[in-house]
Amino acid sequence: MQRSASCSCGQLTINVSGEPGFVVACNCLKCQKRTGSVFGVSAYFEDTQVDSVTGNATLFEKVSDSGNLSKRHFCPECGTTVYWQGASLPDKTGIAVGCFSDPNFPEPEMVVWTSSKHGWVTYPDAWLSSDTQEFDRSS
Ligand SMILES: [Zn+2]
Ligand SMILES: [Zn+2]
Repeated sequence: MQRSASCSCGQLTINVSGEPGFVVACNCLKCQKRTGSVFGVSAYFEDTQVDSVTGNATLFEKVSDSGNLSKRHFCPECGTTVYWQGASLPDKTGIAVGCFSDPNFPEPEMVVWTSSKHGWVTYPDAWLSSDTQEFDRSS
């Protein structure tokens, strides 16, 4: 399956093929800042699944809550962070699930950094859960 994720203005798009390796909801404070929401949902693909990127991206480098460098690519026009690479997940590209504009996108199977989760947020019991980044799969 081929999918495209794009920013708010549509200038920046990343095109991927195949299914994501995993999808994760992250409550870390960095994801809260990145999204402006109270958690981020990320889909991770192998770099080899990235077919193309169109438009211009600005790079923002940030040390994540796990202490690893994260390289985020955002649209310089509208500011949406669309995709990123993290040192803790070499050879993988994380993509903001909301940027796919697809309510039928595969559901996350895990949630990380519940230590900084807002109290009113609950997740399905079936998901794996970690206080920190036990699965080493957060951005
Ligand atoms: Zn944009
Ligand atoms: Zn996070």
